[in-house]
Amino acid sequence: MLNIVLFGPPGAGKGTQAEKTIEKYNLIHLSTGDILRSELADQTVLGLEAKKFMDKGELVPDEVVIGMIETKIDRSTDTKGFIFDGFPRTTAQAEALDRLLLKKETGISAMLMLAVEHDELVKRLLNRGKDSGRTDDQDISIIENRIRVYNNETAPLIDYYKQQGKYHAVNGMGTIEEIFQRLCYTIDNL
Ligand code: AMP
Repeated sequence: MLNIVLFGPPGAGKGTQAEKTIEKYNLIHLSTGDILRSELADQTVLGLEAKKFMDKGELVPDEVVIGMIETKIDRSTDTKGFIFDGFPRTTAQAEALDRLLLKKETGISAMLMLAVEHDELVKRLLNRGKDSGRTDDQDISIIENRIRVYNNETAPLIDYYKQQGKYHAVNGMGTIEEIFQRLCYTIDNL
């Protein structure tokens, strides 16, 4: 299987690139942010509980997102692999993901880190906020908090995957197509 962690700060383009990548390589896209937003749209208990964290740009508790990913992986039989987008975001999540994949006799093939400058992230998020109506993309203090949470809690995963020899940095500046070509080049040379 080809199991890829698409990594990077909020606004790095993970969702956009994941959509293109799943199409080319025939994979399943698992985005914890998308799953949480769909739970919220359905007004489920999980969605309403998660909203309290999402509105502040804080992380939803590990056990909640790990449980969600476990359900999705278990239900996805017969796939060539997964693109994980916005997950894992903490060491506990990365360890849980390794355990879940091991149960399926597979593992993470690579972690691809989309590197984007801070000001470009803020610009992209504010633009997305206008287009999508996402409230956490419309408020500059929530945006800055999400970038701070990424730097403090999520960026340490770079070392986690470096130690496993799975870390690959990809330049995330430029057009969608340019970035996609860089991602494909990295995947094809794994
Ligand atoms: P995203 O769509 O990835 O930007 O996620 C939007 C929000 O959902 C984040 O700011 C968090 O509040 C929450 N979230 C998404 N994925 C995770 C995760 N893996 N762990 C904790 N919280 C998450």
